[in-house]
Amino acid sequence: MTRPARPDDAAPRGAAAAPAPSAASVADRAGDQARLRARMFAELADKSAFRDAATRAFAYVDAIPTRRVFPDADALAGLSAFDAPLPRDGAAPDEILRVLDEAGSPATTAQLGGRYFGFVNGSALPATLAAKWLADVWDQNPALDVISPTLGRIEAVTERWMRELLGLPERTVAGFVSGSSLAIFAGLAAARWRALASAGWDVNRKGLAGAPPLRVIAGRQAHGTVSKAVQLLGLGLDNVEWVETDGQGRIRADLVPALDERSILILQAGNVNSGAFDDFAALCPRARAAGAWTHVDGAFGLWAAATERFAHLTEGARLANSWSVDGHKTLNTPYDCGIALCDDKEALVGALQTDGAYIEYSPARDGMLTTPEMSRRARAVELWAALSSLGRSGVETLVGALHDNARRFAEGLAAAGFETLNDVVFNQVMARCADDAETEAVMRAVQRSGVCWAGGTVWEGRRAIRVSVCSWATTPEDVDRSVAAFAAALDAARRPA
Ligand SMILES: *Cc1c(COP(=O)(O)O)cnc(C)c1O
Repeated sequence: MTRPARPDDAAPRGAAAAPAPSAASVADRAGDQARLRARMFAELADKSAFRDAATRAFAYVDAIPTRRVFPDADALAGLSAFDAPLPRDGAAPDEILRVLDEAGSPATTAQLGGRYFGFVNGSALPATLAAKWLADVWDQNPALDVISPTLGRIEAVTERWMRELLGLPERTVAGFVSGSSLAIFAGLAAARWRALASAGWDVNRKGLAGAPPLRVIAGRQAHGTVSKAVQLLGLGLDNVEWVETDGQGRIRADLVPALDERSILILQAGNVNSGAFDDFAALCPRARAAGAWTHVDGAFGLWAAATERFAHLTEGARLANSWSVDGHKTLNTPYDCGIALCDDKEALVGALQTDGAYIEYSPARDGMLTTPEMSRRARAVELWAALSSLGRSGVETLVGALHDNARRFAEGLAAAGFETLNDVVFNQVMARCADDAETEAVMRAVQRSGVCWAGGTVWEGRRAIRVSVCSWATTPEDVDRSVAAFAAALDAARRPA
C-alpha cells in the first residue's frame, strides 16, 4: 500500500536540514542527559518519595470513616492548585506528592468507605491495593508472554479461576481489559467476526461495505456502552431491533423476534438501575438452537453466577457465547479492571488480532490476542489478588452482604416515606418522592450532607434516586446512617418554608 502524502513531505530531509551542532552544545546536551539520569537514579535509590506516598496513603485510609463522602466547597476550591502552568523544569517527587495529597486528597470522593452509593462503584479490597503497589513497581506489560512471564502466568491462572467461579464452559477464554465498555466491545467484535465468517465473509479484510447484513437484538434498557460498541463496530444503532422491557427493565422474552445465524442477541445480567436479570434460561437455548450469538452484559451482576445464593439469577447464562464483567464493581478491585469472556477463542482472537514482524508469540497464552489493546497495565494482578483474598466463600459472603444491605436500604427508605421502585434482587435500589422536583431536591440535599452519596436516574419517565450498594466496607450501620440522611432531607423538603 502506498503511504498518503504528508504535509512535511516537501520539506528538506536529513541532517543537512539542521545546523551542525557546536562542540560546546554537544557537551551541554550530554551533561543534561547525565544529570537527568542521575536525578532519576537518585530518586529511585533514595526511596523517600515511595515512603512519603505510603505515609500519605495510610493517613488517607485512616481518615476515610470520619470524612465527608463528597468534598465540601473548600476542598473543591483547593483544586485550583493544579491549575499551574506546564513547568519548564521538573520538580522533586516529594514536592509532586505534596501537591497531589494536599490539593487532591481532600477533593476525592470517599469511594473506599462504606457510604458511597453512586454509579455501581465498588471500593478496593486491601489486598488488591497492596498487590497493585508491588505490580506497579514491576512495570510489566502483559501483551505477550515473552514480555512478562509472570503476568503471562497470572493471566492464565486468573482466566481459569474466572471460568470455574462463574461456571463457564471449559473452552472459555478471557481478555483482561479496562472495564465492561471494552469487554462488551470485544464480545460483540467476536460475534461480528463469527457471524460473517459463517457467511463466508472475512470482515477484517473486506470490512462491512457489501457484507451480509447482521441483526442486533437488545432490550430497550441495554446499557449505554452496548450502544457504544454497536456504534464502534459499524453495526449501526438504527439497525438494532430494540425489544420492550418489563416493569423491572428485563427484556420481554416473549417479544424477542425469531433469531437466525446472522443474529447477535444482547442480554443483561444486572440492569444498571434496577439490578434485574434477563431470562437467560428462556433465551440462551433459543439463541443457540437458531445459531445466533448471545452476549451477556454482566458488568456487576454476573458475579451472581459465582455464588450459591444468587446463581438462580443467571441460570442459563452459561449457554451464551460471550460475557462481559467488571472486577472494579461487585468484586471490589481497583478501577481499570474488566474481563471479556468468550467461548469461541477463534472468533475472539480473529476479531482482535494484530500482527507485526517483531511480535514473538509464545506456545502458551499471549494476553494481547484476546484484548483490543496491545500494551496494557498488569491489571490481572488485582483480579488475582481479589480472588486470592476472598476465595470462593468470600465472594459468596461479599455479594450476600451487598444484597442484604441493599434490602435494608430499601426497607429503610420505604419506612421513611419514600416510594421504592424495584424488586431488590441484587444490589440496586431505586426510590422517589412525591414528584420530580422533590426527588431532585432531596437527592441534592443528601449529596450535600456529606453523609453518603447517591445519584439520580430516570425510571418510567420520572426522576428517581439510584442507590448502588457495591462496597465491601458498607455496614448495616452505614445503611442506617444513610437512610437517616435521606429521611432528614425529605423532612426538610416537606417542612413549610
Ligand atoms: C458499569 C456498566 C457498564 C460499563 O462498564 P465500565 O466498566 O464502566 O466500562 C456496562 N454495563 C453495565 C450493566 C454496567 O453497570
